[in-house]
Formats: sequence, C-alpha cells, structure tokens
Amino acid sequence: MEDQGEVASYIPELAKVDPANFGVHISTIDHRHFGSGNCYDKFSIQSIAKVLALVMAYRIVGDEIWNRVGVEPSGTAFNSLVQLETDRGIPRNPFLNAGAIVVSDILLSKLKNPREDFIAFVRSITNNTSLDYSRRIAQSEKEVGYRNVALCNFIKSFGQINNEPVDVLDFYYDLCSLEMSCQELSGLFLFLANNGCDVKSKNPVLSESQSKRINALMQTCGFYDESGDFAFKVGLPGKSGVGGGIIAVHPDQYAIAVWSPRLNKKGNSYRGMKFLEEFTTRSELSIF
Ligand code: GLU
Repeated sequence: MEDQGEVASYIPELAKVDPANFGVHISTIDHRHFGSGNCYDKFSIQSIAKVLALVMAYRIVGDEIWNRVGVEPSGTAFNSLVQLETDRGIPRNPFLNAGAIVVSDILLSKLKNPREDFIAFVRSITNNTSLDYSRRIAQSEKEVGYRNVALCNFIKSFGQINNEPVDVLDFYYDLCSLEMSCQELSGLFLFLANNGCDVKSKNPVLSESQSKRINALMQTCGFYDESGDFAFKVGLPGKSGVGGGIIAVHPDQYAIAVWSPRLNKKGNSYRGMKFLEEFTTRSELSIF
C-alpha cells in the first residue's frame, strides 16, 4: 500500500521509529482475533490514551465532566490555542491537547496516586499487566513541550486548571507515553464495541449510555480537523495518535488497531487511514 508523509519529529524520541513499520489487528466481540505485519510490536499510542483518560474521569465524576470540556469538533489542529480565548478556557472537546490537559487536571484532583492509579485502571480493563508508560518518551516530550506548557497556563489563567501546571503536564506526558501493540490496543478498546463491558469478564467499564457518548465523541472529534474526512472515508468512531496509531470501533462488532508511523499533514497516520478506508469499503463493515 502506498505510503506518504513524515514521522512525527517534534517529539525527538518518536523520530527514531522505523517509518516502514505497519501493523494491524482486529478483535471481535465474539472472541475472534486476526493480525498482520508488526501487530505485536509496541509503539507510542500518544493521543489514543486521551480516550482512556476520559473514560476514567467519566467514571469518577460522571456528567459533571462536560462542565469542564465541551463535546464539539474544533476544526483546529490538535495543539491549537486559538479557541480557548473566546471559550474562556473550556476546550472544545476532550481529544484536543487542551481538553486532555483539563481531563488530566480532573484525574489529578480525584486520584490518590494518579500515575499508579491510571495505569492500574488501564491494565484492569483487559487484565493485561504488561501495559506501561515509557519514561523515555515522556521525558522526551517534556523537554520540548513548550506548546503544552502554554496551553496549560493559558487554561489556568481562566481558572479552569486546579492543580499546578507542572504536575498536570507531568501526568499528561505520562499518559501520552503509554506503549501498546495493535493486538493489545484492539483488545483494550473492545469494551467500546460491547456497550461498555469487557467481553471476557463481562465487567462494565462504562454504562451503555456512557459508552455511546465516548463513541460519539470519537466519531466527531477523534481526528482533529480531519474528523469529518475520517467519518466520510472510513465510517467508524476512532482515535489517532502522533505515534502513527489509530484505533477504530464498530459498535456491536469489533475494534481494529492499525499502526504506521508516517503522518499526513493533519497529524494522522497516512497508511493507517488508507488501510481503514479500504477495509471498511471492501468488507462493508462501517457503521453507515
Ligand atoms: N503527546 C502529544 C502532544 O501533546 C499528543 C498529540 C497526538 O498524539 O495527537 O502533542
């Protein structure tokens, strides 16, 4: 499959990844699993972790969370500051950097040991104890995180961050540094295809209505200012990260993870999007 674009280089450690990597893995709610390519190699999931942070915060504070972050697509880049001025520090949605920084602030206020509690939560969803942060990636992002520092301080100036920006950002960099393979990612996100319940244990991670809302947000806001394009071409709720990963969910059927590090101009995996477009077109397994 044709490949184009550049590996993210604004986080120095991400620039070291081999651009030729390509992996895909699908997990179905009736326990079928198929993978190909580098589907067992771990990579930096970056913004995909914003969904997991939102899920955890939503479980803890419920619908009050929507007082702190909006649910509208922004039509702007993932690290944009512009709308925060007119919106008085309320990010348009939780999948922008600004939104995920606010969600990080909420978790920091609610959790006793945020770093440990968050990873324990992620591991508990599919009982996978091998999932972990990468100190190397988190440190690399912190060293050049000027834009996120600006976002966090700007939001705080409107009184919408309660903790110290340095602590909020340390936690944010940690969650963005989570590493997973496509196989682990598709297994982990399967609860969003199963009305919020883990498919094996049947334990609810979210209620049915909460799961519907997370999927709706992924559908409308999961790809920054390319969310419309992804819905148009692929037709699944999903979320991308600048590590080149994409997770997409077909409610009541499957979760599919794809990884290819070269990104298009909007910061989404070039080959990942192309692959998913082909996949849902040929299989006719999109939600539309
Ligand atoms: N950690 C990245 C950042 O804050 C996440 C961006 C992304 O994956 O889209 O810039």
